[in-house]
Amino acid sequence: MAKISQKRGQCVFCGAFFTGGLSSGTREHIFSDWLADILPKTHTSHTQAITKINHQNDQAFDVISNFIPHNGDELSRKLKIVCKNCNNGWMSRLETEVRGALTDLIKVNHITLTPNIQKVLATWIAVKTAVSEYTDLSTKTISEQDKKFLKDHMVPPASWKIWIGSYEGLDWNKRFMHHGYALYTLNSDFGKICLIPNTQVTAWGIGKVFFYVFSSSNKSCIPNFDSSLLKQIWPPISESITWPPELTFSDYEAHDMAMNAGLKMTFSYIMPIEISQP
Ligand SMILES: [Zn+2]
Repeated sequence: MAKISQKRGQCVFCGAFFTGGLSSGTREHIFSDWLADILPKTHTSHTQAITKINHQNDQAFDVISNFIPHNGDELSRKLKIVCKNCNNGWMSRLETEVRGALTDLIKVNHITLTPNIQKVLATWIAVKTAVSEYTDLSTKTISEQDKKFLKDHMVPPASWKIWIGSYEGLDWNKRFMHHGYALYTLNSDFGKICLIPNTQVTAWGIGKVFFYVFSSSNKSCIPNFDSSLLKQIWPPISESITWPPELTFSDYEAHDMAMNAGLKMTFSYIMPIEISQP
């Protein structure tokens, strides 16, 4: 079970407290700062939408919506949740490793995504997903163990699933949509159900590339998801991917996959009882 409380002033990846010196807190960009070189900051403000849907049974549910305005472009948004050691160490190395391939994807350059490039892309978007969850603590799902695994091994845990697609619309150039679900196995957890999200699906649109990221701290929750529009990059597949792929998609498909994330996947023996999406 993921702990949903975050101690104030503590690095979310290594657990170090922000006490000054090397372990001081630093502001981590949700989208990487260098992306502004290829995706210009054109907005003076942006809005974070949070919708909470509490399913009481198959028919009845409450919907609560909230819209939070933020100054500045989406690419400027930062969260003080990472220590200097992590930010200047493994996270900085990861940014350096991903920059070339991600730039090619965003610019739709013709490249080959080798298994190693797929691994770097999957790790980078997994870290971004873990960071983005701190925009709304009530729907945070990723366990401390999974975040420590990302830091220690520089790959996502094997239970995560990550896909990539080639996007050519206008609305998803710098946007993410996160769904937090409380998914519990009916036979073993039914008596313990509470409204703590433990599973997430996050859709990311960055320039001309689209990522779909799934993780759950309920290890029996394995999604069945198949789309001709997306290619799996985690867990690793052995083949290279030619980029851009034959099939690309636009705003309708991107929005459909992002909005209906839970409906795109089926979960065995799982009862969803809360859905929320910042
Ligand atoms: Zn740290």
